[in-house]
Amino acid sequence: MIDYLIVGAGFSGLTAAEQLCRKYGKTCLVVDKRAHIGGNCYDCKDEHGVLIHPYGPHYFRTNSDEVFQYLSQFTRWIPGNYHVLAYAKDQFWSFPVNLETFEQYLGRPSSTEEMEAWLKEHCESFDDIQNSEQAVLSRFGREFYTLFFEGYTLKQWQKHPRELAASVCGRIPLRTVRDGRYVSETYQVLPADGYTRLFENMVDACGTRLQLHLNTDYRDVVSSTPHRHLIFTGPIDTYFDYQHGPLPYRTLRFEREFHSGDHLPGNLHLGIPEGFIQPSVQVNYPGEEPWTRCVEAKHITHQRIAGSTLIREFPETYEVGKEPYYPIPFPESREIYTQYKQLAEKLDQVTFMGRLGTYAYLNMDQVVTSALRKSKRLIEGM
Ligand code: FAD
Ligand code: UDP
Repeated sequence: MIDYLIVGAGFSGLTAAEQLCRKYGKTCLVVDKRAHIGGNCYDCKDEHGVLIHPYGPHYFRTNSDEVFQYLSQFTRWIPGNYHVLAYAKDQFWSFPVNLETFEQYLGRPSSTEEMEAWLKEHCESFDDIQNSEQAVLSRFGREFYTLFFEGYTLKQWQKHPRELAASVCGRIPLRTVRDGRYVSETYQVLPADGYTRLFENMVDACGTRLQLHLNTDYRDVVSSTPHRHLIFTGPIDTYFDYQHGPLPYRTLRFEREFHSGDHLPGNLHLGIPEGFIQPSVQVNYPGEEPWTRCVEAKHITHQRIAGSTLIREFPETYEVGKEPYYPIPFPESREIYTQYKQLAEKLDQVTFMGRLGTYAYLNMDQVVTSALRKSKRLIEGM
């Protein structure tokens, strides 16, 4: 009899496993239907030897000292340097919107004071912000909403910003100073040897109390594996066999494009360094292109290699059998999820965790925080 059967070897499942095995002396079996650990945060070298994030770019950031210190047990870090550009109207724009973007918009130098005054004049006010359209119009004004947000959001979610929760677009910062970093958290760092190595170190730290079975769907082992408690980090609607209908998700198709080192002279005019394909790690495409963003991880991994790989992201309609990358934050999904949550609360021997287990658009640090709290609660009953 093992103490915990944990479904999913992503950040949620492995944080819970590490705490339960190492801190609390329990035994755990972690199963994942994929062939690797790390869930969507897994990184690896592609067939050309380029280190990539195959499930989309993962920029670690957090304001939490607790999460940073906890993960520092398993990795050294390198600075994040997450610089993103938007490509619209035939040019690259500094993004998220900051003083530099404003100057590009005006076509001349400006100042924080001028930008603040402009925003005051152009932003729309709402008594109570109800959706992503209002969240953007109230902070950025209609010009930047149209230029950067409306088209991108429609492509990404197949929903208009006014149908989506305010938090979706609300997570993009706005700055009236010259600071084009994509995110604003205190710690913006990447695991020095990659995410997968971080996860391997978490597994190793657990010693023999942890067993890990990859290529294993929990449904194939759950009844033949005696356990005291189940931790489920897969999609909550699958656990309940879609009793209340399928939850809505967005899936992605990734297209990879390798460029050999012989063909990467760089382009000073466009800000593309030698050995690279595009000017920054990520370029967002709010326009007519069918993809939303292009990612060249080499900009942030600093891997010394001649060639480079670009990954284009095409959002697609989700259907069962595809990867449920994004829960969709809008009122209808909230209603369905609430019904699953009520079912979940009736189960004493099952705990749901993570982005899919709790159907929430969560970043890595948020799922780690939650797994730390929930593991503690399981043991200490708090
Ligand atoms: P997951 O990583 O999804 O792990 C769940 C695991 O459960 C999967 O490995 C799956 O195979 C397994 N599983 C599911 N069903 C079963 C089953 N029946 N049997 C066995 N195993 C099963 N966060 C950031 O902080 N910064 C970023 O820049 C960032 N970028 C992102 C980009 C993209 C494109 C996406 C999709 C997410 C991004 N995230 C980012 C969010 C980040 O990926 C999540 O916060 C994190 O992966 C959640 O970890 P998790 O363990 O909860 O879920
Ligand atoms: N967004 C946008 N234009 C952009 C970048 C983001 O409209 O250039 C909106 C879009 O709705 C997106 C959301 O803001 O889904 C959150 O963006 P983020 O880059 O944080 O998304 P993630 O990395 O989670 O896919």
